[in-house]
Amino acid sequence: MANTQPSKQRINFFKHWTLPLLCRAIRVFSILTVLPTTLFCQQAYKIETADIDNFWRACDQLHTAATEADSIQIIQTEYIDKATPYFKEFLRIRKFTAPEYVKLLKRYPKYWQSIRPLTENIANRKPEIEQVFEKFRNGLPGFKQPNVCFAIGCLRTGGTVSKNLILIGSEIAAADATVQTSELSPWLQSIMGNTGDIVAMIAHETVHTQQFNRRKYSLLTGCISEGSADFIAENLTGLNINPIIHDYGNKHECTLWKMFEKDMADTPRDMSRWLYQGKGSEGRPADLGYFIGYKIAEAYFTKQSNKGKALKTLLNCKKYPTVYKKSNYSQEPCSPKAKTGSD
Ligand SMILES: [Zn+2]
Repeated sequence: MANTQPSKQRINFFKHWTLPLLCRAIRVFSILTVLPTTLFCQQAYKIETADIDNFWRACDQLHTAATEADSIQIIQTEYIDKATPYFKEFLRIRKFTAPEYVKLLKRYPKYWQSIRPLTENIANRKPEIEQVFEKFRNGLPGFKQPNVCFAIGCLRTGGTVSKNLILIGSEIAAADATVQTSELSPWLQSIMGNTGDIVAMIAHETVHTQQFNRRKYSLLTGCISEGSADFIAENLTGLNINPIIHDYGNKHECTLWKMFEKDMADTPRDMSRWLYQGKGSEGRPADLGYFIGYKIAEAYFTKQSNKGKALKTLLNCKKYPTVYKKSNYSQEPCSPKAKTGSD
């Protein structure tokens, strides 16, 4: 017993003083020798899942509520008021409220019950997400490490970014084929289980955090923004959130391109037939603009000899009209050489 205390102190001393000093010394050394600091001292970041636990803890207390006002009070004090700093940012930009949560919990009981274990399992997937970031660090020049917040939203957002923070609405993002969707609206039914695996989603959203000169998008540039996020994520990590869209797109590439070209000419600012459609697509998968944008990004990237520079250009949203021109994609989907399917 007597020997354990001093050794603990030694460990604490090493942790609190020696390591930071060592890192600082390496940083100075790195600056002097132009070696990347991250080679030695990995950039700190956080994958926050505490808000998911807070949400379900709050839900477990709802049986004590006598009135709707009591339920609202529980969600407010046990979930919203306990928000982590990252979830506070999510609340600020998406404006989730306690009355909205209570309304949704009451309306879709089977759905909430079925999504719970899937959201609680997200914490177990942190090592896979860390591997994704490792691939970005190794493959993307100038990569800035984002933080991640998995929380429970109000069925309005699967994933978004705020500067260098990835915000995931886990109640949508974690859904798979096992989720009970019978109570949900047709639009919610159409998106549940179709947002791709959460690790792939993190890869896609990570690219959005690296994009710069983001601006108001046209149909073309909006699709390149989304498609290049898919392309870069797949290129670096092998993961893609849109396998269904790609399967359909590859089989109908020429037809789709002709429709897209016409929409670009007739309604260049209207994205509604190509992106963020939800249920609004008849006879074909929604959001095929991800596929078109991916193909343009891929065609551009393939033609560039300096791949590092090409990746950087694909992150610069101001350059998307140039990316389109240099991709020469418009000549490809319907050419005899194209590997199109049934068209
Ligand atoms: Zn996106």
